[in-house]
Amino acid sequence: MSTISIDSLIRNKAEKLCAVSERIWEFAELRFQEKRSAALLANVLEEEGFDVQRGIAGIETAFVANFGTGKPVISFLGEFDALSDLSQEAGVTEQQAIVSGGAGHGCGHNLLGTSALGAALAVKEYMQENGLSGTVRYYGCPGEEGGSGKTFMAKEGVFDDADAAITWHPFTHSGVQRAETLANYQVYFKFKGKSAHAAGGPHLGRSALDAVELMNIGTNFLREHVVQDARLHYAITNAGGVSPNVVQPEAEVLYLVRAPETEQVESIYQRVVKIAKGAALMTETELEITFDKACSGFIRNTILEQVMQDQVERVQVPEYSAEELDFARGIQTTLSEEDISSDKRSILQLIGKDAALWEEEMDTSPILTTPIPYHDAENFQYGSTDVGDVSRITPTIQFHAACFAVGTPLHTWQVVSQGKTSLAQKGMLYASEVMAATALTLFDKPEQLEAAKLELQKRLGPDGYTSPIPEGVKPTILA
Ligand SMILES: [Zn+2]
Repeated sequence: MSTISIDSLIRNKAEKLCAVSERIWEFAELRFQEKRSAALLANVLEEEGFDVQRGIAGIETAFVANFGTGKPVISFLGEFDALSDLSQEAGVTEQQAIVSGGAGHGCGHNLLGTSALGAALAVKEYMQENGLSGTVRYYGCPGEEGGSGKTFMAKEGVFDDADAAITWHPFTHSGVQRAETLANYQVYFKFKGKSAHAAGGPHLGRSALDAVELMNIGTNFLREHVVQDARLHYAITNAGGVSPNVVQPEAEVLYLVRAPETEQVESIYQRVVKIAKGAALMTETELEITFDKACSGFIRNTILEQVMQDQVERVQVPEYSAEELDFARGIQTTLSEEDISSDKRSILQLIGKDAALWEEEMDTSPILTTPIPYHDAENFQYGSTDVGDVSRITPTIQFHAACFAVGTPLHTWQVVSQGKTSLAQKGMLYASEVMAATALTLFDKPEQLEAAKLELQKRLGPDGYTSPIPEGVKPTILA
């Protein structure tokens, strides 16, 4: 192997990568509408010699880019969608929308997709330098936020021939992701009744809003009788209008049901459907159910965790300037004590014993640079990600890199504000290097890939992977 280092390959691309992440931050496109973000990433890959296929799996903004030929196929997953109502100026320590009601990168996916791009480009150059055989692949994965884009892509088989998938997420700490996540279903329940004058002829009306409310009461009672780790959330997406003097003829509620296993989600969902039917019966309304999307829980791969951990221990962590640290401290002043203490607590929990060093660092620095040490104790994260479906098809590993001040909760204006600064970009480039180095180890050590595949088979069991998305369900664009 040549002496060309991954860190110099990333450094050479740093300016370009930062510019790409800033453009995607500016585009701030919502799920499945990421036309400009996807085009930018795909075009850069093409310019750099990758073979790009756009609009894969029937999704306009999904794409795949390959460099090289044959096995192994080592892939990176890139996300690039934004969140609604989080428009925010960059680099400031007060809430200040650019466009009132506009979208913003509140989960840092502008960094996510770009860091994976950086890793793919570095691996490609390393392969060229060293005449490595095999394929490096970039998956352009749209609609992660509430859309489960990867689960739809998985259903079409786009991950089937990958030998490994590597990805990451920006956070307030760095380290190998070891947590499993929840599977979920997202489903619309729409009730149709009959409007009437609420005072003059209430007996003539059949209220769809009553049905939504009765359904919610039913599911709130159901909470006591589901598995401990299940989560049930809802949003009333149509309350039937703003006039109390009209009996609401139409109303809709969107449910998100989560549990560790898809089978558990399915059984809770079947009970939620019964409650909805009961609500329709009670109110003499009609019920229409529309399955929106689903995803599977993430399953760990300890072989890949070890491979990545070795690289984490080798790669230099970023250093921050006085200005960057001041800005991060400024962001912390906008957070509540509870935000900060809750984040610190969850970081210390990840570390387990011997956490004193990290506690001290978090007390003195607004950015936590020392990576979380590795241990393979089981742990759980009460969220969901469509990376879960990929992790059931090919061995998958995720990294977390500190991009935001300690205490910053995801999906907030503070993430958007930090997401276009050098502070976050340092974490992004750090993640590129860790991911690229992990990929190169896998090119170099096919026995690790084989071991990782065996572990996946063992964890999955004889039934393998089944898509949680019913036949005929297509990705939906947010209205
Ligand atoms: Zn995210």
